[in-house]
Amino acid sequence: MVLKKWYGQHLLLSKGVISKIAQEAYFTPEDIVVEIGPGTGNLTEEILKYPIKQLHLIEIDKDMVEVLNKNIKDDRVFIYNQDATKFNLCSIGKQIKVVGNLPYNVASLIIENVIFHKECVIVALFMVQKEVAQKIQKGPSWLSTFVRTFYSVDYIMSVPAKFFVPPPKVQSALIKLSRLTQAPNFDLKAYKSFLTRIYANKRKALKNKVDIEILKRLNIDPMQRVDQLSLDQVKDLFLEHGKTFKAEV
Ligand code: SAH
Repeated sequence: MVLKKWYGQHLLLSKGVISKIAQEAYFTPEDIVVEIGPGTGNLTEEILKYPIKQLHLIEIDKDMVEVLNKNIKDDRVFIYNQDATKFNLCSIGKQIKVVGNLPYNVASLIIENVIFHKECVIVALFMVQKEVAQKIQKGPSWLSTFVRTFYSVDYIMSVPAKFFVPPPKVQSALIKLSRLTQAPNFDLKAYKSFLTRIYANKRKALKNKVDIEILKRLNIDPMQRVDQLSLDQVKDLFLEHGKTFKAEV
């Protein structure tokens, strides 16, 4: 079949890498699993070797969905011809594991969507562009902070381009997000808009972005830049900011 570049179609053919992804998910017979971008089903078939309860496939390309319908005959499988950047993951289950060799052009949007459904996602294992993996793990970026507020991020391994067909121009990496047992109960839309605002123009001093009184209350030097803040400081800033905001209304 002809692969579609605009859908980020780079099929993972390495049996070793495929089995490593499945192993890292530590599947159990109770697991409800979601695979994003299953493509022709290479990883799908590996996941189905495990005694999981259900496997839900979210694939945007109807040609791929046709291939999947033909190739995958298993009662545990449910296929959705939909866009994973917008999919309501909580409609599938309350405690799901999400896996996928993601389409790199929309990987960040898919990860963001997972965070918006954090109530239902306990673990996510994603193959992404190596730079994206490193940036999510270390920051600084609004998305990295958004993710790390609710999940611990493990960098599992780098994966060279030659393991994909066609090989992408960039290197890849497998990352694992594990939901933290103690995470704040933030309004996610408000938190996202706060983070995107403070992480814009990273070189500007914080005093240009956040009320100076708030910075003083938290003992943060107003001349500091956002990339000098710890994760806890960012969370505290958001909380203080929220209080002031409410007091103003
Ligand atoms: N998992 C397969 C294919 C990975 S390529 C393998 O490893 O071989 C990425 C897949 O994601 C493609 O099948 C592509 O059609 C699909 N895709 C691209 N954008 C998507 C989106 N927004 N939502 C769901 N699937 C998408």
